[in-house]
Amino acid sequence: MGRVWNFSAGPAALPQAVLEQAQRELLDWNGSGASVMEQSHRGKRFIAMAEQAEADLRELAAIPDDYAVLFLQGGATQHFAQIPMNLAGEGDVADYVVTGHWGEKAASEAAPYVKVNVAASGKAAQYRALPPRETWQLDPRAAYVHYTPNETIHGVEFHEVPDTGEVPLVADMSSDILSAPIDVKRFGLVYAGAQKNIGPSGLVVMIVRRDLLARHGRPMAKILRYAEHAAAGSMLNTPNTWGWYLAGLTFRWLKAQGGLAAMAERNRAKAELLYAAIDGSGGYYRNPVDPAARSRMNVPFTLHDGALDAAFLAESEAAGLLALKGHKALGGMRASLYNAVPLEAVRALVDFMRDFAKRHG
Ligand code: PMP
Repeated sequence: MGRVWNFSAGPAALPQAVLEQAQRELLDWNGSGASVMEQSHRGKRFIAMAEQAEADLRELAAIPDDYAVLFLQGGATQHFAQIPMNLAGEGDVADYVVTGHWGEKAASEAAPYVKVNVAASGKAAQYRALPPRETWQLDPRAAYVHYTPNETIHGVEFHEVPDTGEVPLVADMSSDILSAPIDVKRFGLVYAGAQKNIGPSGLVVMIVRRDLLARHGRPMAKILRYAEHAAAGSMLNTPNTWGWYLAGLTFRWLKAQGGLAAMAERNRAKAELLYAAIDGSGGYYRNPVDPAARSRMNVPFTLHDGALDAAFLAESEAAGLLALKGHKALGGMRASLYNAVPLEAVRALVDFMRDFAKRHG
Protein backbone atom coordinates (compact mmCIF):
# COMPACT_ATOMS: atom_id res chain seq x y z
CA MET A 1 0.00 0.00 0.00
CA GLY A 2 1.23 3.54 -0.76
CA ARG A 3 0.56 6.68 1.25
CA VAL A 4 -2.88 6.77 2.83
CA TRP A 5 -5.00 9.60 4.21
CA ASN A 6 -3.87 9.71 7.79
CA PHE A 7 -6.26 10.91 10.50
CA SER A 8 -4.04 9.94 13.44
CA ALA A 9 -4.34 12.04 16.60
CA GLY A 10 -0.60 11.91 17.12
CA PRO A 11 2.04 11.16 16.20
CA ALA A 12 0.22 12.42 13.18
CA ALA A 13 0.53 13.02 9.45
CA LEU A 14 3.45 15.15 8.32
CA PRO A 15 3.32 17.15 5.09
CA GLN A 16 4.35 14.88 2.25
CA ALA A 17 6.66 17.56 0.84
CA VAL A 18 8.50 17.67 4.18
CA LEU A 19 8.95 13.89 4.24
CA GLU A 20 10.16 13.90 0.65
CA GLN A 21 12.70 16.61 1.38
CA ALA A 22 13.92 14.74 4.45
CA GLN A 23 14.18 11.61 2.33
CA ARG A 24 16.20 13.41 -0.35
CA GLU A 25 18.52 14.85 2.26
CA LEU A 26 18.78 11.81 4.48
CA LEU A 27 22.15 10.49 3.38
CA ASP A 28 23.79 13.77 2.50
CA TRP A 29 22.39 16.76 4.33
CA ASN A 30 23.35 20.16 3.10
CA GLY A 31 26.46 18.95 1.30
CA SER A 32 27.89 17.52 4.50
CA GLY A 33 28.08 13.90 3.32
CA ALA A 34 26.21 12.74 6.43
CA SER A 35 22.64 12.90 7.66
CA VAL A 36 21.52 15.70 9.95
CA MET A 37 21.20 13.09 12.72
CA GLU A 38 24.86 12.18 12.46
CA GLN A 39 26.49 15.47 13.21
CA SER A 40 27.21 17.78 16.07
CA HIS A 41 24.53 20.13 17.24
CA ARG A 42 27.37 22.57 17.85
CA GLY A 43 28.59 22.44 14.25
CA LYS A 44 28.17 25.44 11.96
CA ARG A 45 25.67 23.69 9.70
CA PHE A 46 23.38 22.58 12.49
CA ILE A 47 23.50 25.95 14.28
CA ALA A 48 22.58 27.74 11.05
CA MET A 49 19.67 25.37 10.46
CA ALA A 50 18.48 25.71 14.06
CA GLU A 51 18.59 29.50 13.92
CA GLN A 52 16.72 29.52 10.62
CA ALA A 53 14.02 27.26 12.07
CA GLU A 54 13.54 29.66 14.97
CA ALA A 55 13.50 32.66 12.63
CA ASP A 56 10.89 30.99 10.42
CA LEU A 57 8.72 30.18 13.43
CA ARG A 58 9.07 33.75 14.70
CA GLU A 59 7.97 35.06 11.33
CA LEU A 60 5.08 32.61 10.96
CA ALA A 61 3.65 33.27 14.41
CA ALA A 62 4.77 36.94 14.63
CA ILE A 63 6.57 36.22 17.89
CA PRO A 64 7.73 39.46 19.55
CA ASP A 65 11.36 39.83 20.65
CA ASP A 66 10.46 39.82 24.32
CA TYR A 67 9.51 36.15 23.95
CA ALA A 68 12.04 33.33 23.90
CA VAL A 69 11.55 30.30 21.66
CA LEU A 70 12.78 27.01 23.12
CA PHE A 71 13.23 23.61 21.48
CA LEU A 72 12.95 21.14 24.36
CA GLN A 73 12.38 17.46 25.05
CA GLY A 74 10.27 15.41 27.43
CA GLY A 75 6.94 15.68 25.64
CA ALA A 76 4.20 18.02 26.75
CA THR A 77 3.70 15.79 29.78
CA GLN A 78 7.08 16.57 31.31
CA HIS A 79 6.27 20.25 31.01
CA PHE A 80 3.00 19.73 32.87
CA ALA A 81 5.37 19.27 35.83
CA GLN A 82 8.16 21.61 34.80
CA ILE A 83 6.00 24.68 34.17
CA PRO A 84 4.90 25.02 37.80
CA MET A 85 8.48 24.41 38.92
CA ASN A 86 9.62 27.34 36.79
CA LEU A 87 6.74 29.76 37.07
CA ALA A 88 5.61 29.30 40.66
CA GLY A 89 7.38 29.55 44.00
CA GLU A 90 6.89 27.21 46.94
CA GLY A 91 3.34 27.56 48.25
CA ASP A 92 2.05 29.56 45.28
CA VAL A 93 -1.35 28.94 43.77
CA ALA A 94 -1.94 28.33 40.05
CA ASP A 95 -5.30 28.31 38.31
CA TYR A 96 -6.20 25.41 36.05
CA VAL A 97 -9.07 25.50 33.62
CA VAL A 98 -9.86 21.87 32.93
CA THR A 99 -11.82 21.16 29.77
CA GLY A 100 -10.81 17.58 29.02
CA HIS A 101 -8.39 14.75 29.56
CA TRP A 102 -5.21 16.76 28.96
CA GLY A 103 -6.19 19.61 31.23
CA GLU A 104 -6.85 17.06 33.97
CA LYS A 105 -3.44 15.56 33.44
CA ALA A 106 -1.74 18.96 33.43
CA ALA A 107 -3.36 19.77 36.77
CA SER A 108 -2.49 16.45 38.36
CA GLU A 109 1.15 16.56 37.23
CA ALA A 110 1.44 20.13 38.56
CA ALA A 111 0.00 19.26 41.96
CA PRO A 112 3.31 18.25 43.64
CA TYR A 113 4.79 21.68 42.79
CA VAL A 114 2.00 24.22 43.13
CA LYS A 115 -1.35 24.59 44.87
CA VAL A 116 -3.69 23.75 42.03
CA ASN A 117 -6.92 25.73 41.98
CA VAL A 118 -9.30 24.20 39.46
CA ALA A 119 -10.84 27.51 38.48
CA ALA A 120 -13.29 25.94 36.05
CA SER A 121 -14.07 22.46 34.84
CA GLY A 122 -16.12 20.98 32.05
CA LYS A 123 -16.24 17.60 33.77
CA ALA A 124 -19.88 17.81 34.92
CA ALA A 125 -20.79 18.40 31.26
CA GLN A 126 -18.67 15.34 30.32
CA TYR A 127 -16.25 17.74 28.64
CA ARG A 128 -18.71 18.32 25.82
CA ALA A 129 -18.92 22.07 26.40
CA LEU A 130 -16.65 24.79 27.74
CA PRO A 131 -17.34 26.43 31.10
CA PRO A 132 -18.29 30.06 30.30
CA ARG A 133 -15.56 32.55 31.19
CA GLU A 134 -17.82 34.39 33.68
CA THR A 135 -18.11 31.22 35.79
CA TRP A 136 -14.35 30.80 36.28
CA GLN A 137 -13.18 31.19 39.87
CA LEU A 138 -9.75 32.66 39.18
CA ASP A 139 -7.47 33.41 42.09
CA PRO A 140 -6.07 36.94 41.67
CA ARG A 141 -2.84 35.81 43.41
CA ALA A 142 -2.31 32.91 41.03
CA ALA A 143 1.18 32.53 39.58
CA TYR A 144 -0.45 31.74 36.22
CA VAL A 145 -3.60 30.38 34.60
CA HIS A 146 -3.20 27.15 32.66
CA TYR A 147 -5.63 25.95 30.00
CA THR A 148 -5.79 23.62 27.00
CA PRO A 149 -7.05 25.55 23.97
CA ASN A 150 -7.79 22.30 22.15
CA GLU A 151 -8.58 19.03 23.89
CA THR A 152 -7.34 16.29 21.59
CA ILE A 153 -9.48 13.48 23.00
CA HIS A 154 -12.73 15.29 23.84
CA GLY A 155 -12.67 17.44 20.71
CA VAL A 156 -13.48 20.75 22.42
CA GLU A 157 -11.71 23.93 21.45
CA PHE A 158 -11.66 27.52 22.63
CA HIS A 159 -12.25 29.78 19.66
CA GLU A 160 -11.14 32.86 21.58
CA VAL A 161 -8.25 33.45 23.95
CA PRO A 162 -9.65 33.95 27.45
CA ASP A 163 -8.79 37.16 29.27
CA THR A 164 -6.93 36.58 32.52
CA GLY A 165 -5.90 40.17 33.17
CA GLU A 166 -2.42 40.55 34.59
CA VAL A 167 -2.05 36.85 35.47
CA PRO A 168 0.06 35.14 32.77
CA LEU A 169 -1.86 32.72 30.61
CA VAL A 170 -0.17 29.38 29.94
CA ALA A 171 -1.50 27.32 27.03
CA ASP A 172 -0.91 23.68 26.15
CA MET A 173 -1.20 24.05 22.37
CA SER A 174 -0.04 20.52 21.60
CA SER A 175 -2.92 19.85 19.25
CA ASP A 176 -3.68 23.29 17.80
CA ILE A 177 -0.40 25.17 17.52
CA LEU A 178 0.16 26.77 14.09
CA SER A 179 -3.35 25.80 12.95
CA ALA A 180 -4.35 29.48 12.87
CA PRO A 181 -2.70 32.84 13.57
CA ILE A 182 -1.78 33.29 17.21
CA ASP A 183 -1.67 36.55 19.17
CA VAL A 184 1.41 35.67 21.20
CA LYS A 185 1.16 38.77 23.39
CA ARG A 186 -1.98 37.36 25.00
CA PHE A 187 0.08 34.53 26.49
CA GLY A 188 2.78 34.20 29.10
CA LEU A 189 3.84 30.77 27.87
CA VAL A 190 2.76 28.52 25.03
CA TYR A 191 4.04 24.97 24.66
CA ALA A 192 3.35 22.04 22.39
CA GLY A 193 4.52 18.51 21.85
CA ALA A 194 5.60 18.52 18.21
CA GLN A 195 3.99 15.31 17.05
CA LYS A 196 0.76 16.79 15.68
CA ASN A 197 1.31 20.06 13.88
CA ILE A 198 5.10 20.43 13.89
CA GLY A 199 7.13 17.28 13.42
CA PRO A 200 8.07 14.03 15.12
CA SER A 201 7.56 13.22 18.78
CA GLY A 202 10.39 13.87 21.22
CA LEU A 203 10.42 17.62 20.60
CA VAL A 204 8.55 20.32 22.52
CA VAL A 205 8.33 23.85 21.18
CA MET A 206 7.86 26.56 23.80
CA ILE A 207 7.26 30.29 23.41
CA VAL A 208 7.73 32.11 26.70
CA ARG A 209 7.72 35.75 27.76
CA ARG A 210 11.27 36.50 28.82
CA ASP A 211 10.32 38.25 32.06
CA LEU A 212 8.73 35.01 33.28
CA LEU A 213 12.06 33.25 32.90
CA ALA A 214 13.39 35.46 35.67
CA ARG A 215 10.97 33.85 38.11
CA HIS A 216 13.33 31.44 39.77
CA GLY A 217 10.62 29.44 41.43
CA ARG A 218 12.64 27.15 43.65
CA PRO A 219 15.96 25.31 43.83
CA MET A 220 16.26 22.89 40.96
CA ALA A 221 18.77 21.42 38.58
CA LYS A 222 19.84 23.63 35.69
CA ILE A 223 18.50 21.16 33.18
CA LEU A 224 14.98 21.76 34.52
CA ARG A 225 15.17 25.54 34.36
CA TYR A 226 13.79 27.24 31.26
CA ALA A 227 15.96 30.33 31.83
CA GLU A 228 19.04 28.13 31.42
CA HIS A 229 17.69 26.58 28.23
CA ALA A 230 16.96 30.05 26.87
CA ALA A 231 20.44 31.32 27.76
CA ALA A 232 21.99 28.30 26.04
CA GLY A 233 19.90 28.60 22.85
CA SER A 234 18.16 25.30 23.75
CA MET A 235 21.54 23.57 23.64
CA LEU A 236 22.16 23.07 27.31
CA ASN A 237 22.55 19.45 26.34
CA THR A 238 22.14 17.61 23.04
CA PRO A 239 18.79 18.63 21.60
CA ASN A 240 16.53 16.45 19.49
CA THR A 241 18.42 17.34 16.32
CA TRP A 242 16.23 15.30 13.98
CA GLY A 243 13.06 16.77 15.44
CA TRP A 244 14.41 20.30 15.25
CA TYR A 245 15.36 19.76 11.60
CA LEU A 246 11.93 18.37 10.68
CA ALA A 247 10.22 21.18 12.57
CA GLY A 248 12.29 23.62 10.52
CA LEU A 249 11.16 21.94 7.30
CA THR A 250 7.54 22.14 8.47
CA PHE A 251 7.86 25.85 9.31
CA ARG A 252 9.21 26.48 5.83
CA TRP A 253 6.39 24.44 4.33
CA LEU A 254 3.85 26.47 6.30
CA LYS A 255 5.34 29.69 4.97
CA ALA A 256 5.11 28.33 1.43
CA GLN A 257 1.44 27.46 2.04
CA GLY A 258 0.72 31.11 2.75
CA GLY A 259 1.30 31.13 6.50
CA LEU A 260 -1.06 30.68 9.40
CA ALA A 261 -3.97 32.71 8.03
CA ALA A 262 -4.06 30.43 4.99
CA MET A 263 -3.85 27.35 7.23
CA ALA A 264 -6.71 28.68 9.37
CA GLU A 265 -8.89 29.05 6.30
CA ARG A 266 -8.13 25.51 5.14
CA ASN A 267 -8.61 24.07 8.60
CA ARG A 268 -11.98 25.81 8.88
CA ALA A 269 -13.08 24.40 5.52
CA LYS A 270 -11.94 20.87 6.44
CA ALA A 271 -13.74 20.89 9.79
CA GLU A 272 -16.92 22.36 8.29
CA LEU A 273 -17.03 19.65 5.68
CA LEU A 274 -16.74 16.86 8.23
CA TYR A 275 -19.18 18.34 10.78
CA ALA A 276 -21.69 18.97 7.98
CA ALA A 277 -21.43 15.31 6.96
CA ILE A 278 -21.97 14.19 10.56
CA ASP A 279 -24.83 16.59 11.28
CA GLY A 280 -26.43 15.89 7.90
CA SER A 281 -26.41 12.11 8.36
CA GLY A 282 -29.83 12.01 10.02
CA GLY A 283 -28.33 10.64 13.24
CA TYR A 284 -26.31 7.90 11.56
CA TYR A 285 -23.19 9.68 12.82
CA ARG A 286 -23.09 11.91 15.90
CA ASN A 287 -20.69 14.38 17.43
CA PRO A 288 -21.64 15.12 21.03
CA VAL A 289 -19.81 18.45 21.44
CA ASP A 290 -21.59 21.80 21.88
CA PRO A 291 -21.36 23.28 18.35
CA ALA A 292 -19.85 26.48 19.78
CA ALA A 293 -16.95 24.51 21.23
CA ARG A 294 -16.26 22.01 18.47
CA SER A 295 -12.63 21.40 17.66
CA ARG A 296 -11.30 22.11 14.18
CA MET A 297 -8.45 19.67 14.80
CA ASN A 298 -9.99 16.59 16.43
CA VAL A 299 -13.48 15.41 15.54
CA PRO A 300 -14.78 12.55 17.67
CA PHE A 301 -17.92 10.89 16.37
CA THR A 302 -19.98 7.79 17.00
CA LEU A 303 -22.04 5.58 14.76
CA HIS A 304 -25.72 5.18 15.61
CA ASP A 305 -25.03 1.52 16.36
CA GLY A 306 -21.74 0.63 18.09
CA ALA A 307 -21.99 -2.86 16.60
CA LEU A 308 -20.95 -1.29 13.28
CA ASP A 309 -17.68 0.14 14.65
CA ALA A 310 -15.52 -2.81 13.68
CA ALA A 311 -16.86 -2.83 10.12
CA PHE A 312 -16.39 0.95 9.86
CA LEU A 313 -12.77 0.67 10.95
CA ALA A 314 -11.94 -2.31 8.74
CA GLU A 315 -13.60 -0.83 5.66
CA SER A 316 -12.17 2.65 6.16
CA GLU A 317 -8.71 1.21 6.48
CA ALA A 318 -9.20 -0.84 3.34
CA ALA A 319 -10.28 2.40 1.62
CA GLY A 320 -6.98 4.03 2.56
CA LEU A 321 -8.27 6.04 5.53
CA LEU A 322 -5.93 5.47 8.46
CA ALA A 323 -6.35 5.75 12.23
CA LEU A 324 -10.01 6.64 12.65
CA LYS A 325 -10.41 4.62 15.85
CA GLY A 326 -11.50 6.86 18.70
CA HIS A 327 -9.62 7.20 21.97
CA LYS A 328 -10.45 4.37 24.34
CA ALA A 329 -11.88 6.83 26.89
CA LEU A 330 -14.68 7.79 24.49
CA GLY A 331 -14.88 4.87 22.06
CA GLY A 332 -16.32 5.41 18.60
CA MET A 333 -14.25 7.25 16.01
CA ARG A 334 -12.05 10.29 15.85
CA ALA A 335 -10.68 12.08 12.81
CA SER A 336 -7.77 14.43 13.43
CA LEU A 337 -7.45 17.15 10.82
CA TYR A 338 -4.09 18.76 11.50
CA ASN A 339 -2.31 21.06 9.06
CA ALA A 340 -0.78 18.21 7.07
CA VAL A 341 -4.18 16.63 6.35
CA PRO A 342 -5.43 18.12 3.08
CA LEU A 343 -9.05 18.94 2.18
CA GLU A 344 -8.86 16.06 -0.29
CA ALA A 345 -8.42 13.65 2.61
CA VAL A 346 -11.52 14.99 4.34
CA ARG A 347 -13.47 14.71 1.07
CA ALA A 348 -12.40 11.08 0.83
CA LEU A 349 -13.52 10.54 4.44
CA VAL A 350 -16.98 12.08 4.04
CA ASP A 351 -17.52 10.18 0.77
CA PHE A 352 -16.61 6.99 2.57
CA MET A 353 -18.93 7.82 5.47
CA ARG A 354 -21.89 8.45 3.14
CA ASP A 355 -21.20 5.27 1.24
CA PHE A 356 -20.82 3.26 4.44
CA ALA A 357 -24.12 4.59 5.77
CA LYS A 358 -25.86 3.52 2.54
CA ARG A 359 -24.37 0.07 2.58
CA HIS A 360 -25.01 -0.52 6.27
CA GLY A 361 -28.33 1.39 6.48
N1 PMP B 1 -1.46 17.80 25.71
C1 PMP B 1 -2.26 17.56 24.65
C2 PMP B 1 -3.32 18.55 24.29
C3 PMP B 1 -2.09 16.38 23.92
O1 PMP B 1 -2.88 16.11 22.88
C4 PMP B 1 -1.07 15.47 24.30
C5 PMP B 1 -0.78 14.20 23.53
N2 PMP B 1 -1.74 13.65 22.80
C6 PMP B 1 -0.29 15.76 25.41
C7 PMP B 1 -0.50 16.94 26.08
C8 PMP B 1 0.78 14.83 25.88
O2 PMP B 1 1.85 14.94 25.03
P1 PMP B 1 3.19 14.06 25.15
O3 PMP B 1 2.80 12.68 24.79
O4 PMP B 1 4.06 14.74 24.15
O5 PMP B 1 3.68 14.19 26.53
